[in-house]
Amino acid sequence: MKAVCSLCPHHCALEEGQTGLCRARTNRDGKIVCSSYGRVTALAVDPVEKKPLRRFYPGSRILSVGSFGCNLRCPFCQNSEISMADSGTRTIELSPNQLTAKAAELSQSTLGNLGVAFTYNEPLVGYEYVRDCCALIRRAGMKTVLVTNGFICEEPLRKLLPLVDAMNIDLKGFTQRYYEWLGGDLETVKRTIEIAAAQCHVEVTTLIVPGRNDSEEEMRAEASWLASVSPEIPLHITRSFPRYRVQEEAPTPLATIDRLCAEARKNLRYVYAGNC
Ligand code: SF4
Repeated sequence: MKAVCSLCPHHCALEEGQTGLCRARTNRDGKIVCSSYGRVTALAVDPVEKKPLRRFYPGSRILSVGSFGCNLRCPFCQNSEISMADSGTRTIELSPNQLTAKAAELSQSTLGNLGVAFTYNEPLVGYEYVRDCCALIRRAGMKTVLVTNGFICEEPLRKLLPLVDAMNIDLKGFTQRYYEWLGGDLETVKRTIEIAAAQCHVEVTTLIVPGRNDSEEEMRAEASWLASVSPEIPLHITRSFPRYRVQEEAPTPLATIDRLCAEARKNLRYVYAGNC
């Protein structure tokens, strides 16, 4: 029986056994299930600043976990080995209980651990795993962090937010044309930022791709809109490096990042240069 996934605006209509565009959700017995549930491709303890979160428990470390799959198709993806992987990729099994126990054990160590960050690939395509883990991590008194592209429908977003302490949301550019290049939609991501910022700590990241989203005019529009949500939202303006399908371009010049940071600071209180 055909089933439609209602998690993100792609609304994939899947035949029995078929997997969606994100490669992480499958129609099994007429129901959409998360095929990446409990399957981990990357696990590391990182400084929280590396997420990046600069104004959320600075100086802390956080257990960071990734799976596979993504619902966008950014040609410049900096993490395509796992974001573009499918269920055939090598993973380790880590149940929500096991992940929580690992995070709790680390929190007792000398260096400490804030909680768990869901990152590396797009965490929201593994929605049910993230939701179940977040509930347990919270119950154990730790913090939950999502590093996401924000391309999710409103209803599942609102259901998940009470379990989330902080998010870093990509705002990849500020034109619909740019988002179409990535297979996404600007308005959906703007709505995610607005809703999330009202409920948890939010920081935003814009990865600058030379010649694509590096104009001062676009940054002016982005920073001005972000300030209308809140001028206190930290914005990370980061360099990109040649990766995935954009191998021919040079890394973003440092001067470009400086110029765009200066532009954004006219509207926003906290602007950080990233990958510099
Ligand atoms: S989350 Fe995946 S399966 Fe669901 S609609 Fe989006 S791309 Fe399709």
